Amino acid sequence: MTALDGLGYAFDPLDRASYLREDASAVARLRARPDARVVLIARDMPVLGKAATGLEPLMPLAEVEALGGARVEALLGRLPGGAPVFAALLNDDAVVEQSDASDGFLDRRVLVIPGRNDLKMVDLRSIASGGLVPPAETSLLASAKALLAWHARRGFCSNCGARTGIGAAGWRRECPNCGMHHFPRTDPVVIMLATDGDSCLLGRQPRFPKGMYSALAGFLEPGETIEQAVRREILEESGVACGAVRYFASQPWPFPSSLMIGCFAQAESRRVTVDRIELEDARWFERDEVRAMLEKRHPEGLSAPVPMAIAHHLIKSWAGG
Ligand SMILES: [Zn+2]
Repeated sequence: MTALDGLGYAFDPLDRASYLREDASAVARLRARPDARVVLIARDMPVLGKAATGLEPLMPLAEVEALGGARVEALLGRLPGGAPVFAALLNDDAVVEQSDASDGFLDRRVLVIPGRNDLKMVDLRSIASGGLVPPAETSLLASAKALLAWHARRGFCSNCGARTGIGAAGWRRECPNCGMHHFPRTDPVVIMLATDGDSCLLGRQPRFPKGMYSALAGFLEPGETIEQAVRREILEESGVACGAVRYFASQPWPFPSSLMIGCFAQAESRRVTVDRIELEDARWFERDEVRAMLEKRHPEGLSAPVPMAIAHHLIKSWAGG
């Protein structure tokens, strides 16, 4: 058990082996190893093998060809024992959309791979929140999904418009026309808990599950420090001014490719003015009330986010004193 037990996507076991990315023959030798494995993504969703023990995200590389080849393949790195792991983006037509009536919702749509009842497509949020695969493997899926989502949408040069090719074992796109190199994006998001003594500031977005309150969050803007973004987002969303900002921990958030930067902020004012465009509500909560929300025993049924989200750990850390 660590302090961040249950946090999703944050326990990548790989040596990313970035020194091998420019060496095509070394990558080819890794690909030929019998212990090489691949993480499959199709239409932004992981493809998992159904094993006797549960769902299996790491599959033999032969599956790539069996499923019609890949649009993009990338070397993710090597597992602690040395086995190489690749990520492959299957062609969109490897997958079809079907209606699924299995849980009573007649018009629910699911993605399936025709003729392959031994494979299952599951969205990555459900995999992490449901603990459907071990944490380290959830991290592999997150890396693969974020990287391949970038490839899937960046086929053309943003400088000149020409079609780009793939370099650096899947970690770069290169323009044959203007020569520009393009690298996978990570979008930083600040997520922060404003505190004042025994109170903390929580808000809820309309899309949250009923009764759930969380830490405020927002995208970092060009030219901002993390500290400035934390203060600006809290002020914009709640009207509360903050001073000192302290870093807590971070979490990859592959929807599509963010990094959540968790912080605490010292509030310097109390009056809350909710930004109704961003939030349904925001208010101060006392420490005892927050503990009840974390432990799912709040008298009004209010709750905090689940452990797969960094907001849970920010709030829990503060609530524990
Ligand atoms: Zn170009």
